[in-house]
Amino acid sequence: MSGVRLSRSPDLGKNIRVSFEFFPPKSEQMEDRLWQTVKRLEPLRPEFFSVTYGAGGTTRERTGRTVARILKETPVEAAAHITCVDATRAEVDACIRQFASLGINRFVALRGDPTNGSGGKFKPTDGGYQNAIELVAALKAINSDFDIAVSAYPEKHPESPDFATDIDFLKRKIDNGATRAITQCFFENQHYQDYVERVRKAGIDIPILPGILPIHDFWQVKSFCERNGTHIPNWLEQRFEGLKNDPQTHALVAAAVAAEQVTELIEQGVTDFHFYTLNRSEPVYALCQLIGIRPSY
Ligand code: FAD
Repeated sequence: MSGVRLSRSPDLGKNIRVSFEFFPPKSEQMEDRLWQTVKRLEPLRPEFFSVTYGAGGTTRERTGRTVARILKETPVEAAAHITCVDATRAEVDACIRQFASLGINRFVALRGDPTNGSGGKFKPTDGGYQNAIELVAALKAINSDFDIAVSAYPEKHPESPDFATDIDFLKRKIDNGATRAITQCFFENQHYQDYVERVRKAGIDIPILPGILPIHDFWQVKSFCERNGTHIPNWLEQRFEGLKNDPQTHALVAAAVAAEQVTELIEQGVTDFHFYTLNRSEPVYALCQLIGIRPSY
């Protein structure tokens, strides 16, 4: 007889670490909802919360304010995403310094996408940072103690000619000071496993947190994935077939899909997860319950 499956181990929750990503709210109503989500997830003692940065710096003020509020009102570490889009080096540096003045010392450093929507080719602003490699260096030049995470692409970035180029980019971000990578969402766990194998072969040993996106609306997720290069497998599409006007069944199927993905990754030895919450607590709270993470108060 083989031993207990990893995902059914009585000590499961002790060995798993999670982090949660939010986007900055646009209205008071959305802010209330985000705050309810933060308060619900806080007792799960995540490693960190992170808050995205809108296209072209449009959320700069809201991103900073949201991260600063998390730091002030919860015991959880919080990271601000930051991008190079539509800003000169001096403007990006000023934003970093302003975030630092709010007590923020964790960042997720990203190049970003063109403001006219992802899918187009990125053109750096005149006098701006060219990519996330340069942005990581800029953050470290401002404060060498900053904790910096960067992106990683299990199916390679759509602009990348091949995996070797893509992984070389990741390596250069790490050489400049990044200590953690968070992946783009994916639905075939094999893509993540193959990617981690490639990355390790390239001598990269930092944590590569799988970015898990619980599906809130399959058709929206499909369209987002078409733009960001994430493959939607046929089996996944089939599971949501006929559910456009049946939100209850859609939600149950989505929960089952996410549960399957996460437990399979645990069986494969994954212990750290980053959840794209879309500012909703329910799906990720249930996933945490499933993987043994309980509120500490
Ligand atoms: P980089 O790491 O600079 O480049 C990405 C890849 O593009 C490289 O690995 C390389 O393969 C390829 N590439 C780039 N330039 C070249 C070149 N000249 N030649 C060859 N290959 C090249 N976007 C936001 O606007 N706000 C956010 O808050 C945000 N958060 C994110 C969080 C995570 C975890 C992830 C995975 C993505 C996030 N994004 C966000 C999206 C991100 O901005 C886009 O995916 C963007 O297209 C690339 O940004 P990057 O930091 O990965 O770029």
